Amino acid sequence: MNCKLCGGNAPRELLRSQDSAILRCPECGFLFREPYRGCVASKCAACEDRCIDRLAEPGFLEARLRVDGRRAERIAALAGGSLSGLAVLEIGAGLGCLASHLSKSAGTYAGLEASPVFRGCLAENFKELAGKVEGAHLPGPQHRGRFDLVVLVDVLQFSPGPLEFLRAALSALKPGGKVYIEVPDESLLGLRAAFRKALGLYSGSPLHHGHLNFFTPKSLRFLLAQAGLEAQHFSQASIAADEDRLFLTLKRPLPGWVRALSLAARFTKADTALGLGNTVCLAVKRNGVAA
Ligand SMILES: [Zn+2]
Ligand SMILES: [Zn+2]
Repeated sequence: MNCKLCGGNAPRELLRSQDSAILRCPECGFLFREPYRGCVASKCAACEDRCIDRLAEPGFLEARLRVDGRRAERIAALAGGSLSGLAVLEIGAGLGCLASHLSKSAGTYAGLEASPVFRGCLAENFKELAGKVEGAHLPGPQHRGRFDLVVLVDVLQFSPGPLEFLRAALSALKPGGKVYIEVPDESLLGLRAAFRKALGLYSGSPLHHGHLNFFTPKSLRFLLAQAGLEAQHFSQASIAADEDRLFLTLKRPLPGWVRALSLAARFTKADTALGLGNTVCLAVKRNGVAA
């Protein structure tokens, strides 16, 4: 079994989840699930955590829209302050919450979402996205070289063959175009797994059933370099400091001790310093400035 990112030999087992092993490559640090079964099309569509039908429950859609509103602002800030002049392609539009913000602020917006379950949910919640989100994993020939910004939020952890996936995603960029990527920082995978178990997430499994790839900042930087990208921005975004995100993850009102931890995270930023947040980056193709 070779590493799914660098091809290196002899990855070692770190822990087990949902009857599979989580292996770590000693060469590039990449973590992945074995057997390496892809479910990029289903994501949470068959999820026991009921990520989708909970949207109908009070407060969920609103919390998700607030989280993605803040995310859209972050993307715009990193992309130079405004998306108004940009053609934006979101890969993995999911339930459409981020799409609903991006489609308002971008010059033009197009989305791709392979899951028919997600597309159905998206169409129901966001009429304004009608005709803007296609059923596909990756851009096709019609998208080639047309976009200023490609957005990949919580996608690469689901994608079998993340390097090939990212290269195909980049084909949609104009020369000098940029890609925004967000993935969980799994530096402390064991600690995250223990937290999730303590909170009773994922039916007692330490990891999300759909995740195949587990990135650390180091292995994400390695992926970027392999794809010919240069990071212009690379940082950590807190999950613990954002009560909306915690509510969406826990799927119930926050217990007092979780709120206390969240408050502590807001003031100390200890969680992102430890590597318990999301990695956020904006990258451009090397020598991408030339036309
Ligand atoms: Zn490797
Ligand atoms: Zn799910």
